[in-house]
Amino acid sequence: MLIKLQNIWDMIWSKVETFQLSEAEDKIGWKIGKKNMFTVKSVYNALTSSDVGLYHKKIWKGKIPAKIKIFLWLVLNNAILIKDYLIKRKWTGSPTCHFCDEEENISHLLFQCSTAKVVWAVVAYAIGANNVPRNIQQCWDWCEKWLPNGQKFHTLGIAAICWAIWRIRNDVCFEGRKITNPISIVCLACSLMCYWAGLFLEVDKEALVRGVNLMMEIAVKLLNKKSVKRKPPLLEDDQGEQPE
Ligand SMILES: [Zn+2]
Repeated sequence: MLIKLQNIWDMIWSKVETFQLSEAEDKIGWKIGKKNMFTVKSVYNALTSSDVGLYHKKIWKGKIPAKIKIFLWLVLNNAILIKDYLIKRKWTGSPTCHFCDEEENISHLLFQCSTAKVVWAVVAYAIGANNVPRNIQQCWDWCEKWLPNGQKFHTLGIAAICWAIWRIRNDVCFEGRKITNPISIVCLACSLMCYWAGLFLEVDKEALVRGVNLMMEIAVKLLNKKSVKRKPPLLEDDQGEQPE
């Protein structure tokens, strides 16, 4: 114990022995603010300092409603109130996915579930991709690979698809809605993209709506096919390098 106290004393002494005191009056300063001044921004920056990754930036800078930015940020931080998250907090309900028999977690619901895979397969077909993303981080790289000239729309597209899956999942969970065809999720995502296109300049909005209409046409054709009991073929996950 004495040795420990001695060590602490030595540490404190090494820090203060070279400190120069002056006759000036003491001042109170805010350590994490510029010029030692308190600002709300400095508190926000300190609290979100771990959110400086590439994908966080893409979310906060994306042209999507603020509520959806927060949703994507929660997805990225694995903090959506989904079953595996609730179970960790002593919730005692069924862990099963609302679309299939597997356990529900964010990655499963938005990417690995057979319903999500159909949704992503339709989107992939519409943009000419031959695979689908397997997690939220990979989405941006996937968009970059298959839509290299549409960077300004990437976050909007990712957000609309994830939000549409989440919305329909909640309808099934809380309203008892039955999903007969996952293509309806694509239609919802398309309508969200058209609605959010209003956040873009007119020229970008027109380009976006043209692309979304094409995707909607493909989805509706698939939806109307009687034979769509044969779901569109599932595509393999993108096996590209796993982003950190
Ligand atoms: Zn599932």
